Amino acid sequence: MGRFTLPRDLYHGKGSLEQLKNLKGKKAVLVLGGGSMKRFGFVDKALGYLKEAGMEVRLIEKVESDPSVETVMAGAAVMREFGPDWIVAMGGGSPIDAAKAMWVFYEYPETTFESIIQPFSFPELRTKAKFCAIPSTSGTATEVTAFSVITDYEKGIKYPLADFNITPDVAIVDPELAETMPPKLTAHTGMDAMTHAVEAYVSTLHCNYTDPLALWAIKLIHNNLKKSYDGDMQAREIMHDAQCLAGMAFSNALLGIVHSMAHKTGAAYTGGHIIHGCANAMYLPKVIQYNAKVPEAAERYAEIARFIGLAGNTTDELVKALVAELRRMNDSLDIPQSIKNYGAGGVKAETSIIDEKEFNNKLSKVAELAVGDACTGSNPRQPSPAEMERLLKAVYYDEEVNF
Ligand code: FE
Repeated sequence: MGRFTLPRDLYHGKGSLEQLKNLKGKKAVLVLGGGSMKRFGFVDKALGYLKEAGMEVRLIEKVESDPSVETVMAGAAVMREFGPDWIVAMGGGSPIDAAKAMWVFYEYPETTFESIIQPFSFPELRTKAKFCAIPSTSGTATEVTAFSVITDYEKGIKYPLADFNITPDVAIVDPELAETMPPKLTAHTGMDAMTHAVEAYVSTLHCNYTDPLALWAIKLIHNNLKKSYDGDMQAREIMHDAQCLAGMAFSNALLGIVHSMAHKTGAAYTGGHIIHGCANAMYLPKVIQYNAKVPEAAERYAEIARFIGLAGNTTDELVKALVAELRRMNDSLDIPQSIKNYGAGGVKAETSIIDEKEFNNKLSKVAELAVGDACTGSNPRQPSPAEMERLLKAVYYDEEVNF
């Protein structure tokens, strides 16, 4: 038995933000991030449309990037006090992810964070509110997924929460919001989306419903990400759709160990965070080399390579071509190939902000956590802790993976 769950309604294309005026309800909270949506006038627009819908609106602002358990609890308290029947979250992945978790604690105040970190264990939602998500970045696709990533800063761990209960009811994929992304963010979120599509395509849970979405997303991202990075707004618009297609695929096929590694290395080091999309971009080629030791996975990577027009006669040649092409994309987007060249903000640098000694000291612990990550189960090859250590070393030192 398979399950395939998406939002009930998805509005896309320029100006689709206007659909907010057709939501039916009395009260809405609007959950927002750092302030770029306000600066570019989208908050005023959204407020106007929600008022047209006849709703009283309360703002929950300043959700930080990589939202914390504390932010989630504070937002849920505001919701409990105000009593919205719509939760509208607008911005990058963070405010939407945070709002999804707030939703749980709004409807179930007695629930604990510990009790929902187990995948697919959420209580039944929609007893108080429905959820509308409006992304301003082209990457996480959290507007269509069953996932949310919340960071426990005390423990230095990112929890990928997963349950179809938090798949939004309405997604508004309006490319005008994504036009505001700076180039670096465009590159990182775009490679995050590429990783979603590739991992979904080779996942052990991939199926006939997810495969076409993943493949088409890969093609669109391959053809448009660099142009979007260079400021081509036509390509930016296509990327906004492409990342959403990738999200539809991975929400239902799940991911793999590129994400396990990105989750567990993301907040583990004192030098700074390794930005999610940038981590994925660096780790994906290495994980392809590792997974391709499984013949069925190799064949599927070869299918991807053929589909995007890469040259090669054998499966092996096509897998190599895919790895080379992803590395070429990283270079063209000014993304480092490994942690040893990871500078602040995810730019290429001579000296990494992630200290080599600290990395090696924490290697066995991080490897153990990555093996235990919720994304590992659907990876086509199951790594032992020792193999995960070797993979992590390979992504630090940019070594070939041939084990
Ligand atoms: Fe991701």
